[in-house]
Amino acid sequence: MKMTPLEGWLRGKVSGHRDGTLDEQIARYQLRKLSETVAYVREKSPFYRDLFSGIDSESTFDFKSFSQLPFTTANDLREQGGRMLCTSQDEIKRVVTLQSSGTTGQPKRIYFTAEDLEATVDFFAHGMATLVAPGATVLIFLPGELRDSVGDLLARALVRTKVNPVVWGPVRDPAAARAEIMKHPRPCLVGIPTQMLALARGDLAGAIPRGWVESVLLSTDYVPEAIERELEQLWGCRVLTHYGMTETGLGGGVECQAGEGYHLREADLYTEIIDPGTGLTVADGEEGEVVFTTISRRGMPLVRYRTGDLARLIKEPCPCGTVLKRLGRVQGRIAAEVALKDGRRLRMNELDEALFAIPGVLDYRAEIEVRVGRDQLRLCFQTVKGEEEQVARKARSALLSQDATRVLWRDKVLALGSITFCPTGWPGTGVAKRQILDRRGIDLSQRASSCSAVITALRI
Ligand SMILES: [Zn+2]
Repeated sequence: MKMTPLEGWLRGKVSGHRDGTLDEQIARYQLRKLSETVAYVREKSPFYRDLFSGIDSESTFDFKSFSQLPFTTANDLREQGGRMLCTSQDEIKRVVTLQSSGTTGQPKRIYFTAEDLEATVDFFAHGMATLVAPGATVLIFLPGELRDSVGDLLARALVRTKVNPVVWGPVRDPAAARAEIMKHPRPCLVGIPTQMLALARGDLAGAIPRGWVESVLLSTDYVPEAIERELEQLWGCRVLTHYGMTETGLGGGVECQAGEGYHLREADLYTEIIDPGTGLTVADGEEGEVVFTTISRRGMPLVRYRTGDLARLIKEPCPCGTVLKRLGRVQGRIAAEVALKDGRRLRMNELDEALFAIPGVLDYRAEIEVRVGRDQLRLCFQTVKGEEEQVARKARSALLSQDATRVLWRDKVLALGSITFCPTGWPGTGVAKRQILDRRGIDLSQRASSCSAVITALRI
């Protein structure tokens, strides 16, 4: 098995720290970069100056003292983003605005300088070598129209490594996207998980023969395993996943050929896992919230940024033979959990694993509401035409038999309500993060659910 190309990339970055093993060199490199980042943000940003005002800048700086610094959050980005900026506006090359779904509050704005964007291109160029060699073609089904958008940065990275990029953008017309795929023998596809699944499963599924696609890279903060497995089966190709978000500088970590966890972008990010309740670092290998610090960012560095993603660092060495760390599969997001009675919870990823495994499912929406004094789960599916009935039947039985959800019905914590279908539509572009809609505080007679609207329209 080929070792992750990120090891060679990192070796080049830490070459000034020659003594000791590679992991010792990486640790020394990261500690130096963390210390420089903290000094830099204290000097340049009013937000961080206030945040760290009680902290003695002369005291010893080590990983332990770093882990006692306060966190930053998505709310800080929304409310104080401008004060987190460390350069003049003139030096900012790109601003990414993220409007959270369902909230009317301020959007998050993340600012990047030309150097920040170059660091991302450099990471993409090395990370993609896991999947493609010079001469290959990569079809990019991510937003790429704008200069310096994720698709554009990825395309530039590929050109650098003599790979041919085709920037298509998120799929809005599945037939056109399939036709494009069929123009390129053995392509690598990079896309949003639900969209790639729908391309493989949709009404024209036969249009892409098994064996045509060489590999798929699914890119987002969280990828359901069921989607990965299904794509591997339908297309008979390798599917790897990339972990990242705008805050990490778009790129965050990428699986190696072992497909067992993300090798992280350690030259630019320092990652910690904390207990989301206490804020303390968890023991090695335990699950918790992913917290990262950008250690090479100039425009808007993030120090101890809480991602809301749940995952663990894997202690065991990777089968690919690298010494690099691995982040385990993201097990969902704290914001995508719904609290039920008796301290029980329902996680979006538990629904995803059960429901995306059902043939014919393209996407779905989940809502929790109160009916007759009890929490009830409603599901609205997008399916392949004609598959509605079997999807409803299998969804019910999957949720009633899967370990994670079975106990919720058994203990009468949650009831399974109606299952409906959206007659039209195509899986979203992944701009809004998928989550269970919590409608328990809403007067049902006033409800304006887009799902019910669609179904009412169908009845008319
Ligand atoms: Zn590996």
